[in-house]
Amino acid sequence: MLKVESPAKHLMAHGISTCAGCSMELAARYLLKAAGPQSIVVIPPGCAALLSGFGAETVVKVPVFQGNLENTAAYAAGIRAGLEVLGKEGINVVGFAGDGATVDIGLQALSAAFERGDHILYVCYDNEAYMNTGIQGSASTFPDAWTTTTPAGKEGLGKNMLEIAAAHRIPYAATASAGYVNDLARKLTAAVQAAREKGPAYLHISTPCPTGWRFDPALTIAVAKAAVQTRAWNLVEVVDGDWRLTVEVKDPKPIGEYLRLQGRFRALTPEQEAKLQQLVDSEYEKLLAHLK
Ligand code: SF4
Repeated sequence: MLKVESPAKHLMAHGISTCAGCSMELAARYLLKAAGPQSIVVIPPGCAALLSGFGAETVVKVPVFQGNLENTAAYAAGIRAGLEVLGKEGINVVGFAGDGATVDIGLQALSAAFERGDHILYVCYDNEAYMNTGIQGSASTFPDAWTTTTPAGKEGLGKNMLEIAAAHRIPYAATASAGYVNDLARKLTAAVQAAREKGPAYLHISTPCPTGWRFDPALTIAVAKAAVQTRAWNLVEVVDGDWRLTVEVKDPKPIGEYLRLQGRFRALTPEQEAKLQQLVDSEYEKLLAHLK
């Protein structure tokens, strides 16, 4: 039997069975650090269920409840209501779900929690497909990306979750990236505080997946940074309705520098790449309109 001699630090133990180079795991570590030991986390089936575990085994050192794919926010809201009935204060209630469980299947429950003003933090780790069950495309999959259900490339733009969250007029919503951990850590701290003091907080983190995006696990952070540096992923914060860029990319790189790092765009034609460049540029212009 493998014996681990070094004590595991922080709130996540050794022995995690995520793939090498998984940035979802990195995001989870930062989340637990920001939320602290006085937290209860809800995780639906998906890659993060590797953290909550099987039966009595878990690598997370705070209470974790594994719900269903469609109702992470409803479970979190129920736990918050239960804590209030019991008079227990100072406990953070956190949902941690992938894009499939958030942007697609769990959107109804999330919208309801936003609308009610439940004091929960909801974090979406976005690996842009249903990675845990076989790389099926989601509403968050990047346009023209290969997945097992979009073998000729994903059609359509998908949903803009930051705009959806902000449209609910919640006190805090932001995007973040596993490639910009200082920005991520600050936003997680702000989101935890907002969920405690004001109401729902939402953080949408880009977490590149070497398995599904088809890149060398050693390149995870480089891919995450390239998304931001090409403006394929923008780092934004919406606090009480005020939008701002938290990392401004003044001299963006061509989108090809992001796409060519990943096997899921291997079949892209030059025409498709040019269209994606136009798309990224126009989406950025739309984002700037929020900042005025
Ligand atoms: S499939 Fe991707 S997101 Fe899931 S554990 Fe592996 S690297 Fe992480």
